[in-house]
Amino acid sequence: MKAARLYEYNKDFDESVRLVDVPDPEITGPSDVIVKIGGAGVCRTDIHLVQAVWQEALGDPRLPYTLGHENAGWIEAVGPAVTGLAKGDPVILHPLITCGLCRPCRTGYDMACEAGKFPGLDGTDGGYAQYLKTSERAVIKLAPGTDPVPLAPFADAGITAYHAVKKAMPYTYPGTTAVVVGIGGLGHFGVQLMKVMTPATVIALDTSRERLQFAESLGADKVALAGDDGGVAEILKLTGGRGADIILDFVAESGTPAFALKYLRQARGGTYITIGYGGDIRPTTLDLISKEFNIIGSIVGSYSELSELMELNRQGRVHISATTFPMSEYARALLELDKGHVLGRGVLVPDF
Ligand SMILES: [Zn+2]
Ligand SMILES: [Zn+2]
Repeated sequence: MKAARLYEYNKDFDESVRLVDVPDPEITGPSDVIVKIGGAGVCRTDIHLVQAVWQEALGDPRLPYTLGHENAGWIEAVGPAVTGLAKGDPVILHPLITCGLCRPCRTGYDMACEAGKFPGLDGTDGGYAQYLKTSERAVIKLAPGTDPVPLAPFADAGITAYHAVKKAMPYTYPGTTAVVVGIGGLGHFGVQLMKVMTPATVIALDTSRERLQFAESLGADKVALAGDDGGVAEILKLTGGRGADIILDFVAESGTPAFALKYLRQARGGTYITIGYGGDIRPTTLDLISKEFNIIGSIVGSYSELSELMELNRQGRVHISATTFPMSEYARALLELDKGHVLGRGVLVPDF
């Protein structure tokens, strides 16, 4: 089969990542599942992987491996212990391959599985390919006849925004103001989910007017353009000088965390949640204690959360905005994302 694999760091996308022929994945374990990829989402993390941002954190994975951690498609083959899945079933995949037996797995904290593998990130082959191997535990079956292709971004962008919004929920009450920083693949879910799951007034913050209009169409109550001051003055104005109670930072690089601290609630008890990464956040300890700020990190989400999100989508309460690219044009899709030209989420569709 064809697969787009990361061969070396820090080159142009079509040089670092190469489309090559590799053997089809095979069932080797009783719970293995092979999925024919319908759509594979293009994530900023894929760009960061090419840039070696994750190299050390992932324990220097062996190259090459196939990118793609946001996958949906159809069941192709299953191991002998798998029940309830048959060839042709439409499915969406939790991003991790988990054991189901360790303590984190048993408490539903899939992201912390002690034997977890992360296809598309840690050297395990991901979904920029015709087929992907995962395990039964990662599979969420979709209703018969569902087209899984446009749903792929729920598998990472969606679940990651959902998990972060769940972390924000205990801090929201009528009158809360929340700022969603960055209306991209994740942030466009963040705006919708804050409106569906909480009573907060939602302010969308972005550097692009087009993306702010997009945020309004998704239900944002107010929008703020991030100029030279990162939107600080505008947000203070929109909140009558109080600042935000909650910040969901889907960017967390290019200075956004430092700006965020300036418009985090001026009084007490503000909460900054970072989902993006790459930058630094440096609150003083005096800020932390005197204003009782909460600083929270959030990564991906659990299998149950992805199931809940798919239910919200089924109910028509959360929509996805996806732009499809032929998979052979993965380099163009990465470049368009890098330039900020993709509205919503890019999805690669196998064209071979
Ligand atoms: Zn991702
Ligand atoms: Zn586990």
